[in-house]
Amino acid sequence: MLESSTHLTHDKSLLFCHELRTPLTSIQGALKLLGYQHLDTLSEDAKNLLTIAINNAERLNRLANTLEMQPSPPMTVLSPSKLEHLQLENDLHQAVEKEEFSLLYQPIVCLQTAQIIGFEALARWHHNTRGEISPEIFIPLAEKTDLIYDLGLFLLSEACRQLGRWQNNLSSQSPLNVSVNLSAAQLRNSGLVDQIKKILVENRIAPNNLKLEITESVLIKNEHIALKILTELRCLGVQIYIDDFGTGYSSLGRLQELPFDTLKIDQSFVRNKNWIMSEAILMLAQRLSLDVIVEGVESLEDLINLQKLGCQKMQGYFFSRPIDAKGVASMLAQQLTEGKFSFPRKLTLE
Ligand code: C2E
Ligand code: MG
Ligand code: MG
Repeated sequence: MLESSTHLTHDKSLLFCHELRTPLTSIQGALKLLGYQHLDTLSEDAKNLLTIAINNAERLNRLANTLEMQPSPPMTVLSPSKLEHLQLENDLHQAVEKEEFSLLYQPIVCLQTAQIIGFEALARWHHNTRGEISPEIFIPLAEKTDLIYDLGLFLLSEACRQLGRWQNNLSSQSPLNVSVNLSAAQLRNSGLVDQIKKILVENRIAPNNLKLEITESVLIKNEHIALKILTELRCLGVQIYIDDFGTGYSSLGRLQELPFDTLKIDQSFVRNKNWIMSEAILMLAQRLSLDVIVEGVESLEDLINLQKLGCQKMQGYFFSRPIDAKGVASMLAQQLTEGKFSFPRKLTLE
C-alpha cells in the first residue's frame, strides 16, 4: 500500500516536472532574448519586471530540479501482472505493425436448407513466445490503446479477401456470407463507411454478403456517430447483426428503431439450457421481423430443443469449431459434392 502510494507520488512528480519544463524552457529563452537584445531600449520599470521574471523562472527551474532528484521507487512496485500487461501492450503494437494476426472461420448453418449460410470470422493472435492469445484478451487491449482501428480494418479486409476467393473458387454454390465482429470503438470513426466501401470494391464483394456483428450495448448507448455509421452501412446493403443478444442491458423499448437485421442469441442461454428465455427472444424477433441465429450449440440435445422452438439458424461446436481457410474450402467442397452440409453422424434431419 505504502509502496504503491510512493509510486503514485513519484509518477505524479515526474509528470509535474515534465509539465513544468516544457513552458519553462520557452519562457526562459524568450526572457534571455529580451534581456540581451533590448535592455537599452527598456524603461526602468520594464527592466525591473524583466529581472523579476528571470528570477522567478530560475526559481521554477530549481523546483523542477528538486522534484526530479527525488529518489525513484524500486522497480518491484509494478506487480508481475501489471508488468506482463505492459509487455503484452508493447507486443501488440508490434504485432499490429507486422500484421501477425489471422482469422479462423466458424460456419453458421441453416437447418431448414441443410446449408452453410456463412462463416463468422474470428481473430487469432499467435504470439511467438506465449502462443495463442485469446481475442477476449487482445481485443479489449487493442480498444484501450486505439490499435483497434488498424487491427479492425486489417481483419475486415482479410475476411473480405478470403470471401472473394471462396466465391470465385466455388461459384456454383449460393453466395456465401462472412460475418466480421466490430468493436464499439470502430464505430466512432466516421471514415469507416468509406473504408468498408473500398474493401468491398477491391474484393468484388456484394455488400449484402458482408455482415457486421456488434454488441447491443453499442446501440443502446445511442452514440450519435455509431447510429449514423450503421444506418449508412445498411443503406449500402451491409447487414448488421446484434451479437451476444440478451447479455447487455437491452433497452427493449428502443429495439424496434435501431438499425439492425439479425439477433444472435448469446451462447449462455444454450449453456444454461434456458429454453424459456430462448423462446421469448425468438418470439420477440419474429414480431420485429428480425432474423435469429443461436450461438453456442454444442450438442444434439441443444439442437433438438432449439429446433422445437422454431429456431433454424445455428452456430456452435456441434457443427464445427472455428477452422482455417483451407478447412473452410474443403467443408464447402464437401457440401457441394453431397448437396448438403455434412452434419455430425448422430443427426438425421427430417
Ligand atoms: P463472439 O463474436 O460472440 O464469437 C463467438 C465465440 O464463441 C468465439 O470465441 C467462438 O470460438 C466461441 N464459440 C463458438 N461456438 C461455441 C460453442 O459451441 N461453445 C462455446 N463454449 N464457445 C463457442 P472466440 O473466437 O474466442 O472469440 C471471443 C470473442 O472475441 C468474440 O465473441 C468477439 O466478441 C471477440 N472477437 C473475436 N474476433 C474478433 C474480431 O475480429 N474483432 C472484434 N472486434 N472482436 C472479435
Ligand atoms: Mg460475433
Ligand atoms: Mg457472440
